[in-house]
Amino acid sequence: MNTAYCVKCRQKDREMKDAREVAMKGKGGQERRAMTGTCSVCGTKMFKILGKADAKKAA
Ligand SMILES: [Zn+2]
Repeated sequence: MNTAYCVKCRQKDREMKDAREVAMKGKGGQERRAMTGTCSVCGTKMFKILGKADAKKAA
């Protein structure tokens, strides 16, 4: 299960619906991984930056 902070619910570790991993281009052309999805309660879009190190373990 993927969780993230929901800014609308102000809830940490809220379950993300339709979570998927995305890649973003950061400074210096470095690729950063993030998870995006929607709050399972209010439907707000959620976003979570993944560390470069543990990018592989996210499903
Ligand atoms: Zn929410």
